[in-house]
Amino acid sequence: MVDPVVWDIGYLVSASLFILGIKKLSSPKTAPDGNRLGALGMLLAVLVTLAKLQTEGVIGWELIIAGLAVGGIIGVVMATRVEMTGMPELVAMFNGFGGGASALVGMSEALRAIKSDSIPELPTEFYATWVAIGLTALIGWITLTGSLVAMMKLKGGFTIPLSGKWVRFPTWGPIWLNPVKILLLASAFWLIWMTIQDPANEQWIYALLGVSCLLGILFVLPIGGADMPVVVSLLNSLSGIAAAFTGFVIGNNVLIIAGSMVGAAGLVLTFIMCKAMNRELFDVLFKSFGSFAETATLTRTKVGSDAEEVAMMIDGAQKVIIIPGYGMAVSQCQHQVKEFADLVSEKFDTEVKYAIHPVAGRMPGHMNVLLAEANVPYEQLIEMDDINPEMHEADVALIIGANDTTNPVARSGEGPLAGMPIINADAARTVVIIKRGLSVGYAGVDNDLFYMDKTMMLFGDGKKMMNELNSAIKDL
Ligand code: NDP
Repeated sequence: MVDPVVWDIGYLVSASLFILGIKKLSSPKTAPDGNRLGALGMLLAVLVTLAKLQTEGVIGWELIIAGLAVGGIIGVVMATRVEMTGMPELVAMFNGFGGGASALVGMSEALRAIKSDSIPELPTEFYATWVAIGLTALIGWITLTGSLVAMMKLKGGFTIPLSGKWVRFPTWGPIWLNPVKILLLASAFWLIWMTIQDPANEQWIYALLGVSCLLGILFVLPIGGADMPVVVSLLNSLSGIAAAFTGFVIGNNVLIIAGSMVGAAGLVLTFIMCKAMNRELFDVLFKSFGSFAETATLTRTKVGSDAEEVAMMIDGAQKVIIIPGYGMAVSQCQHQVKEFADLVSEKFDTEVKYAIHPVAGRMPGHMNVLLAEANVPYEQLIEMDDINPEMHEADVALIIGANDTTNPVARSGEGPLAGMPIINADAARTVVIIKRGLSVGYAGVDNDLFYMDKTMMLFGDGKKMMNELNSAIKDL
């Protein structure tokens, strides 16, 4: 028999690796090492748990190897097949699966206790376990269904089978939904109470499952527009909290530690996102200004410029500020953007900086990741609050596939973008916007910036237009 201290030491090492990993994630330079340490910690935790279960005779090696093989193959296939633009949806789905897995573990522990008639007698142990099971179910199921709705919203919609018709995923949230949500939340707590009062009865567990799943859907359905980053980070946090409660249920320390860390990190990110959007968390969850706008009917027109014209205008510019957005991720033109920055700084001696909006793209840090992949020096990436005071000094604001994050309508008090801080591109002397047409951004709001006299539109796919612009600059 293996001394149980061995397992505790394994968990301790793995928890230390998580902590070191998360510490290293605080700087872009050390972040890749942080990721590796975290992954190593998780591998160790999984191996120690499996070895422990095998030694205790709970599962056999055949099951362990089969589980690792199935999970590993699915993971590799998903990770290799996913497009860079599909990453946010994949992350949302993983959050959901994390919550769902925790809820399933909690439920199976409860059903096992009921079926084997081994409900703990001691009041303290009983309450601790049953409350943890109830909270795991509530938070886990909310995370699962909420994340699946968030995933569809990030995707934007779905194709109807056979007809092939693309339907935008609805954002629906009438005012009476708030009392319904509060009522459902109250009944979920009542159901947890009932599982404690009447622990031998399975029906409370299934009822809790149903109510929690419904709550997840109803909480995320009304949120849309620009507020999705807040929800995605919150769901990420909830998946960690659910895992931490599962740790209490099955008495696994490393799960409690890892879950608490994900929960805490996700909560910090949620508040960072709230600050970036200038919103209170309560307002995001219960007020409807997050709703998508009806996609604006575009009646205005704007004549496009060409790459040569823009290249000539940039020749002589002393300061260019590049503002990347979701379109850069779609067209994967970060390498061409870096080439542009190198070209103008070498050829025209132009100072180049990148303005990074905290919610640009479709996941926190999206632009930073893409630009780091293209080896853009991290010092050139300037956060919104730091770059805005400089915007009026810029000769050119070059916007590549950004829309909502530069939309001046956010300064007004109305619509889905109301009050969201933006990058003040309109303060630059000239604005160049690369996108395929005059269509709206994620929040569905028309952008006045396109129609300003100082704005030059370069219509086309980001990569194609950046290549044309770079060639035109080389030809000057
Ligand atoms: P937006 O989503 O507002 O706009 C992106 C623009 O990119 C579109 O208007 C589109 O215009 C253009 N585009 C798309 N494909 C291409 C392409 N191949 N080449 C060139 N342009 C292209 O982007 P922002 O980054 O400004 O804003 C992000 C939005 O997403 C915010 O509303 C934010 O709240 C939300 N969000 C952010 C999340 C996060 O965590 N960061 C998560 C969820 C939502 P066109 O079709 O004309 O080319």
